[in-house]
Formats: sequence, structure tokens, C-alpha cells
Amino acid sequence: MKVALVTGGSRGIGRAICEELHRRGYYVLINYVSNDAAARDCLSAIEGQGELLKFDVASPEAVKAALEGWQQAHPEEYIEVLVNNAGIRRDNLLIWLEPEDWSRVLDTNLNSWYYVTRAVLQPMLVHKFGRIVNVTSLSGIKGLPGQTNYSAAKGGLIAATKALAQEVARKKVTVNAVAPGFIRTDMVEGLDEAALKKDIPAARFGEPQEVAAVVGFLVSPEASYVTGEVISVNGGLYT
Ligand code: NAP
Repeated sequence: MKVALVTGGSRGIGRAICEELHRRGYYVLINYVSNDAAARDCLSAIEGQGELLKFDVASPEAVKAALEGWQQAHPEEYIEVLVNNAGIRRDNLLIWLEPEDWSRVLDTNLNSWYYVTRAVLQPMLVHKFGRIVNVTSLSGIKGLPGQTNYSAAKGGLIAATKALAQEVARKKVTVNAVAPGFIRTDMVEGLDEAALKKDIPAARFGEPQEVAAVVGFLVSPEASYVTGEVISVNGGLYT
């Protein structure tokens, strides 16, 4: 059994990644935090070839309990693919940005990376195979006004990707990032698509499957010499 863990796997980009990994023969652990119905829906979309792991990626205790619990229940298996995808945004101009919105975004988008990745890394090193893909953002490369919290978190994720890639390359564990632009999910609801797409050379928002396809490549055996890389999926919206 080849096992993959997708954080925030129940909706949007994460769900498309679960479906892509299922097509590639993975048993998918679908993490989410609150929406049980969407998570169940995702599990049926992958024909039950996986399981739901409900925990808050921003809580070190919850991450530890869930992942240690899973490993103890499956001593013969290990998570060989990790997609750090869970994320939120709480936008505001810095002068109005409340400490709570700064912390929550950093905890969910960046500190979570440390908690989850550290929890699954050792078996990858022992087995001398692993694939880690981090879902960052255009905002983490370019910086976007109104998103100092989110840009900081996603920029930090890019730096962590590059650093960890160099730590573990010899053990045949690759660490890469994908940086979506505007992708049609619940997260972009309320944005002015008509105005924003004027700046996108492809003249449209992307679809979650278009991000998932790149993740599919990065976890594949063919991508064994690609590591520490950030691939933008943004319709040419230059960073
Ligand atoms: P989405 O549609 O809002 O889905 C978010 C997913 O993350 C859901 O499955 C949600 O679970 C889960 N989640 C949220 N907080 C969590 C937590 N604390 N612990 C565990 N799971 C949590 O978002 P999306 O648009 O697919 O975004 C996915 C990733 O892509 C994010 O990292 C986002 O920053 C990044 N991204 C998105 C875009 C875009 O345009 N959509 C662009 C650039 C980057 P529940 O359903 O239980 O809430």
C-alpha cells in the first residue's frame, strides 16, 4: 500500500490533489478540520481508497496525536507522500490587521508545516524514499497588499522548502512547492473575478485540477531529480 497524506484535502485544491493521487494508486489520508460532509464526499470521490483524518494542522498536540495514532495503527506502512496544502487567509491592510489574524494565518499556513512534516519525515528517511509538496502561493513570491500575514507565511514556506530539500536529498526525499495564482475554490469566493482576470495573461482563474496535475508530476518517479523547486501555476501572471 502506497500512502499519501494531504492536509486540507477535503475541498478545493486539496480535494483535486486527493483525486490525482488516487488515480496514481495511492491510499489517501484526507485531513480536514471542520466540514465533515465535504470530507465524506471527497472520500467517496476516491472510491473509499483512503481515510479521513480530522485534526487542526495549527495545533501541535492534535497533529502529534493524529499522526502517531495512525502510525501505531499501521506499523507496516509509512506515509511516502506528504502534501502540505491546508491554508487559510484573513486579509487586511497591516494597520488594521489584528494580532489574532496574524497568528492564525501564520499558525495554519506555516507553523503547521513544521508540525506535520516533522511528524512524517523520519520514516521517509529510513525507507530512502519520500515526496513532500508544499502548496504556497503567488502571494508568497510577489507579496500582495492586504496579505502581509499570508505573504509572510507562504514566503516562509518557500524558504523552508529550499532548506529542507538540501537536508534530505541524499536520502531520496524530494521537497518542492507549487505556487498557485487565482484558483477557483471557496477561498477566492467574493473576489472580483472579472476585474482580476484582466491582469491574468490566460484571462481566467485556474481550476484545482490544474494545480493537482503539477503535484502529480512532483510525486512521480519521473520527478526524482527535481527538488527545492517552486513551480508557479498562475496562467502567466508574472511574479
Ligand atoms: P479551500 O477551498 O478554502 O479549502 C481549504 C481546505 O483546508 C479545506 O479542506 C479545509 O478543511 C482545510 N483546512 C483549513 N484550515 C485547516 C486546519 N486548521 N487544519 C486542517 N485543515 C484545514 O482552500 P483552497 O483554495 O483549496 O486552498 C488550498 C491551498 O492552496 C491553501 O494553502 C491556499 O493558501 C493555497 N492557495 C490557494 C489559492 C486559490 O486561489 N484558491 C491560491 C494560492 C494558494 P475544512 O473543509 O474542514 O474547513
